[in-house]
Amino acid sequence: MPATSANRPNVRRVLRGNPAAPGVAMGKCILIHEEKPVVNDRSLEPHEVAGEIQRFDAALEEARKELTDLRAKVLEEVGESEARVFDAHLLFLDDNELMGNTRKAIATERKDAGFLLRRRSEELAKRLARIPDAYLRERATDLEDVAERVVRQLVKGQRRRAIELHEPSIVVAHNLNPSTLTQLRVRNVLGIATDLGGPTSHVAILARALHLPAVSGLAAATGTVQTGDFVALDGNAGTLVVHPTEKERKALGDRQEALRKFELELFSLRDLPSVTMDGRTILLSANIELPVEAENAISVGAHGIGLYRTEFIYLGQGHIPTEEEQLGAYRYIVERMSPRPVIIRTLDAGGDKIVDALQGAQPDQNPFMGWRSIRMCLERPDVFLPQLRAILRASAHGNARILFPMIADVHELREAKALLETARKELEEKGIPYAKNIPVGAMVEVPSAAICVDALARECDFLSIGTNDLTQFTLAVDRGSQRLANLYDPLHPAVLQMVAMTVEGSRKHGTLVAVCGELASDPVGAVVLAGLGVDELSMSPWAILEVKKILRSINWQDAREAAQQALELAGSREVRALLQDRFKRKLQGLGMVSRALSRGTRPSK
Ligand code: PEP
Ligand code: MG
Repeated sequence: MPATSANRPNVRRVLRGNPAAPGVAMGKCILIHEEKPVVNDRSLEPHEVAGEIQRFDAALEEARKELTDLRAKVLEEVGESEARVFDAHLLFLDDNELMGNTRKAIATERKDAGFLLRRRSEELAKRLARIPDAYLRERATDLEDVAERVVRQLVKGQRRRAIELHEPSIVVAHNLNPSTLTQLRVRNVLGIATDLGGPTSHVAILARALHLPAVSGLAAATGTVQTGDFVALDGNAGTLVVHPTEKERKALGDRQEALRKFELELFSLRDLPSVTMDGRTILLSANIELPVEAENAISVGAHGIGLYRTEFIYLGQGHIPTEEEQLGAYRYIVERMSPRPVIIRTLDAGGDKIVDALQGAQPDQNPFMGWRSIRMCLERPDVFLPQLRAILRASAHGNARILFPMIADVHELREAKALLETARKELEEKGIPYAKNIPVGAMVEVPSAAICVDALARECDFLSIGTNDLTQFTLAVDRGSQRLANLYDPLHPAVLQMVAMTVEGSRKHGTLVAVCGELASDPVGAVVLAGLGVDELSMSPWAILEVKKILRSINWQDAREAAQQALELAGSREVRALLQDRFKRKLQGLGMVSRALSRGTRPSK
């Protein structure tokens, strides 16, 4: 029998990672396997059993056909002995222990065939893996390989199903990607812990959007915990304690309470203006990933939506959302937020946001710098134009603005604007209403855009600095890397120089500058960005009130002076020390809602 949480001793373990989303949570954990297609623990009605067995048998036949074709191909192109590997695979398709027992289990347990097959193959593979004979041990891999081939057939063509959690749980995964996270029914997710991932990976951003505590970069979480273990997750400290002591549970419970109280206190700032003591207004807007989050933005009194990441409606779908489907989402947000502005960013697929229907087949070797975002949209007008039309159509219902991501060169901006013009004409011809003067902006998230900002600022209505990508490209540090998390710091003077250049270049043209990267949600970051002259900060709705609190307590002139000094410093550590020292009293107790960004105080491994 494999070890389960039921028969293992409850050994306390403390795992340390990166704080990814603030808050604390305690409860049972559930392990999610990212690399395999998701199968649900779905129960069947008695009348569905025969159909499920038929579906299972059809999947076996499809897998048999695939393997026979593969065998023939390998025989022709490589040789007889290599082709024989597939004979072993074909035998597994008739294996009674694996397939026969799965078929029986469908009838007796009345559950999804994919779920039962995966469970059976994992049990058998574990059993094989303990056999001393190396040859037999290796068969475990073959067995799982065949089982997954059948599982893929079973889930083929289905829209990826939501992952059901039957009780409130903390999700533990090796590397949860955003599309899997969007498949989770969030109702029962208490928090998220992953082996990989840095603080600005998109799963961390989504966790913050969903108000879920998260810790990334734990390295060995999936190797340490098992489904059902009781764990305590601290998204501010970046720790996961497996089987915490009574004392630890109590301490975490107290923290949970303190956090709740602090959030309540912040609520009194909701309707007050975001203005410094010496009268400088800095607009505070919300970043959202899902239309329902418009409510969160309104609940904290956001100026508007500063960044709507549209790619999240493309993730986890078997198809590209149609123009009508997109219109539904955009129109909902624009109407709900009206008359407040809503900045809709066009599809920024790629990096860690893979849209299967577009990119699944040919992943880039270096995905963050590959065929993605605006580069992909410009090459695929069949995908881009429907989105542009949907945004334009939504603009007839409120105050919409359009933002192009990952602009590295003014020609890309021009091409995107030309396609926007095409979309306009198409609507015009059909007499479909849209706002005639929708403001157009470009993201500054590639160093070339900041360096050549003059050209961009001249040709758009606003700029929005994406410090998440700008930091990774300026410092050459992968934003998703757990290993490099200590090197990834948007407070680096080089990144601040880019921000300063962008603000300066825009002033000449009267173009407004916003920051929508995660730095804006860090109280220390907000102070320095305000000091650099940024007009608007956009962040997770949950961070808005905390940032408002710090901005209302400082003088802009002080922030300006500090920002100028920061530009001259040697590194991010010095910048943070300067700001923390200078605004010590004002910053006290803050950073609780936004993530604890401080590298200096991050627990070492
Ligand atoms: C950024 O890069 O800072 C940004 C806001 O965009 P995203 O995080 O979606 O890449
Ligand atoms: Mg970006």
